[in-house]
Amino acid sequence: MQEYKEEAKNHDAQDALADFRNSFYFPETEADHCVYFTGNSLGLQPKTVRDEIDIELRDWAKYGVEGHFEAEHPWFSYHELLMEPAAKMVGALPGEVVHMNGLTTNIHLLMVSFYSPTKHRYKIICEAKAFPSDQYALESQVLFHGFNPHDAIVEVHPRKGEHTIRQEDIEAAIEEHKDELALVFWGGVNYYTGQLFDMKGITEAAHAQGAVVGFDLAHAAGNVPLELHNWDVDFAAWCTYKYFNSGPGSVGGVFVHHKHANTKNLPRFAGWWGYNKEKRFKMESGFDPIPGAEGWQLSNAPVFAMAPHLASLKIFEKAGMDRLRAKSVKLTAFLERIINHVAEKNTAEIELITPSDPDARGAQLSILAHGYGKGLFHDIQKNGVFADWREPNVIRIAPVPLYNSFYDCYKFGELLDNALKKYKK
Ligand SMILES: *Cc1c(COP(=O)(O)O)cnc(C)c1O
Repeated sequence: MQEYKEEAKNHDAQDALADFRNSFYFPETEADHCVYFTGNSLGLQPKTVRDEIDIELRDWAKYGVEGHFEAEHPWFSYHELLMEPAAKMVGALPGEVVHMNGLTTNIHLLMVSFYSPTKHRYKIICEAKAFPSDQYALESQVLFHGFNPHDAIVEVHPRKGEHTIRQEDIEAAIEEHKDELALVFWGGVNYYTGQLFDMKGITEAAHAQGAVVGFDLAHAAGNVPLELHNWDVDFAAWCTYKYFNSGPGSVGGVFVHHKHANTKNLPRFAGWWGYNKEKRFKMESGFDPIPGAEGWQLSNAPVFAMAPHLASLKIFEKAGMDRLRAKSVKLTAFLERIINHVAEKNTAEIELITPSDPDARGAQLSILAHGYGKGLFHDIQKNGVFADWREPNVIRIAPVPLYNSFYDCYKFGELLDNALKKYKK
């Protein structure tokens, strides 16, 4: 392992983003080195979050209700502070992005507008093994409209013996169901396998058949470069507490393509914060939406959830998505090489189910630990590794370019090696 240790130190020494690690708090562990590989589940706390929240606590104390207009960041328009920096990170125009509610809530609200099934076009195509919340959202939407989920929801599976889904199979499903297809709803990056999908290709294929396209970007936002506007995606939603490091349960992000900005007759569940800003406080009846994504807001902005996201987006702006992606590709490949080396060395039956093609993955590797059970996971965990265990036997790890180092990858390899030695046949 010594050669990997040297290589890691060299990469870290040349890494222009290495200092960003110091902008985050790492959890306390008994181990001498914390390997935090769960940024795909809950990102680390940026050290600037406290300052950003303190500003709002101060202004709340100082101004009371007047803070809506008098605060340093007036709460009346607080959400606007996030629009431009977030839009940059997902490849959108500022008016196409808004922050509100939580992810699953936003999926429902967007489906109210973008899933309007008819007797003939009512089907939804989605990935097999979508995140449970997405499955429940789709199923309950279909039932709400009076359709049968077994008929209306078409899941595309990996082929037998494969772990990831082929683009050609997604396109074949779209072709097969084209006459009944209302919506393609897909994850940008699958939470389980870490597969990054060809969102542009999926969007083109679905649009060619007249279907609407939406993406869940929970595992893609802040992880991989996105071009939502140029890809012509109709809508998307994501959470901000994973790669975006904005804290547990923090506010969700939403994208609605500019082409829908002024479509006032789209069905929607409306609230006062989505109402024409000029006339909002006249409290008139009859809903007059703000053009663009802001028109989907219901309630006034949750400032204390947005402040951490603002702190985090400032860090992302400094680092830049291009540089982050370049480091991410290197970091993930390095970790992959180490894991494969350790597996071979120990003749271990562990298998990476994440695609090895860098264009088909982000900052996650999923290790299928055939038959090792949870013992292997606990072994590395008690030595300072934060990873995620998914039944029946998958360990998910995410080397995050903002705060993980090449040394973290080496350290993970060393601990995995030590753990596997125990099981060596
Ligand atoms: C994390 C995640 C969620 C979580 O939804 P919340 O509403 O934020 O609790 C939903 N879908 C996907 C794909 C996820 O990865």
